[in-house]
Amino acid sequence: MFYKDGILTRSDILNIPGVRHGFSSREGGVSALPHTASLNLSDNLGDPPEVVRQNRDIFARAVSDSLCGGGATVSAHQIHSSRVRLLTRENAGEGYDRPAGEDGDGFVTAEPFVMPIIRTADCVPILFAGRRPDGSPVVAAVHAGWRGTVAGIAAEAVRRMEALGCGRETIRAAVGAHIGFCCYEVGEDFVEAIREARGTAFAERHVRAVEGSPAGSRPHADLTGMNLEILAEAGIGASRVDVSPACTMCDEAHYSHRRMKGVRGVMGAGIVICAD
Ligand SMILES: [Zn+2]
Repeated sequence: MFYKDGILTRSDILNIPGVRHGFSSREGGVSALPHTASLNLSDNLGDPPEVVRQNRDIFARAVSDSLCGGGATVSAHQIHSSRVRLLTRENAGEGYDRPAGEDGDGFVTAEPFVMPIIRTADCVPILFAGRRPDGSPVVAAVHAGWRGTVAGIAAEAVRRMEALGCGRETIRAAVGAHIGFCCYEVGEDFVEAIREARGTAFAERHVRAVEGSPAGSRPHADLTGMNLEILAEAGIGASRVDVSPACTMCDEAHYSHRRMKGVRGVMGAGIVICAD
């Protein structure tokens, strides 16, 4: 279940000892521009870099319950791929305090005090946590737009967590606020791309007419359903996945690329291992 906790939203499914996580909305930051107010976490959308770093510090402290500061964070240039990067403490600070490392759309780590931040404004942020046989946590975070979703980035995160010794049966996932089936109208080229990537049956299951819509209406895409199916295939059944009920386009507490016609800030999804 997702619940509000200060400026963040959290999922109880990820509340395990030694792990802190959170999803931000627009709330609680210091950006003053109409489109970035107030907790924008990207420095190429109009806010001065010092404002973005201040937002990043606010976000990092909230996510970690003040167990770590902004210096622990890592962000990368996101490219709508299925590339998941392994992080160590060495990566801390990338993307905010020093240049970003390699491009990619996901991160996995078993080290404490390094906090990957996924940045979205309609795309799907997914946070993961699991355990090794000795009880030590492994965490991951991914950015799943439609391209990353059908490229299977959620399954790639699971595979990479297992490669770090994490038991698959321990892995839980929280899917943060993203554009919902209610709002995600798509064109025929989109449907074709989904068919090509995942087959016709997958496209039919997840790109459909909205019930009661007039004949000739454009179909809507269900990014939630796509990711749930891909996670289930990877061995993470629906009972181990929590999905935020919020739609970023419907709910104006969020930045939405579509609703704001591209002039917007970005929200963060962060997760970190902290010694408890
Ligand atoms: Zn909606």
